[in-house]
Amino acid sequence: MKTTKYLLIPFAVILLFVFACSNSDNSKKNEYWTCTMHPQVHKDGPGACPICGMDLIKKVVDETDSVSSKPDMEGMIGLTTDKQILANVSTIKVKKENLKKELIAYSYLDFVEQNRKTIPAKFNGRIEKLFVDKTGDYIDKGQPLFEIYSPDLAQAQNEFLVALNSGIQIVL
Ligand SMILES: [Zn+2]
Repeated sequence: MKTTKYLLIPFAVILLFVFACSNSDNSKKNEYWTCTMHPQVHKDGPGACPICGMDLIKKVVDETDSVSSKPDMEGMIGLTTDKQILANVSTIKVKKENLKKELIAYSYLDFVEQNRKTIPAKFNGRIEKLFVDKTGDYIDKGQPLFEIYSPDLAQAQNEFLVALNSGIQIVL
């Protein structure tokens, strides 16, 4: 009984040693040093990137992140999450959707040319009061738009009044 005890202890120590060694081997396999700008660079230890000279960073390979570990991706080209970010590739799930065509165009609003009206005065003068002074204002029929002073009209009016007061017969 005693001999078996003595035999078992070294055996257990050896087993522990082998187990520890295999574990450390695994962890060594799952980590490497790489450049953030050049992920194709793989080194066993720290140092500088041979392409850009940046300090290498330690990278631990996540088995769950591996493309080949996904059963539905077998035989297909795929990117790991890290490589997808580096390649700036985004994906979305395929779904049914209505297609909308979006068109962005720059334009300006203007009045219909045929609806523009010019109101000319039939005599010389100057506008003294303007009742409608903004483009686009609504106006009513018969609404005064402006007050105009015309020397020609004032003179004609004076001549009319003089003639009227002097008793001359006026024929219009
Ligand atoms: Zn680099």
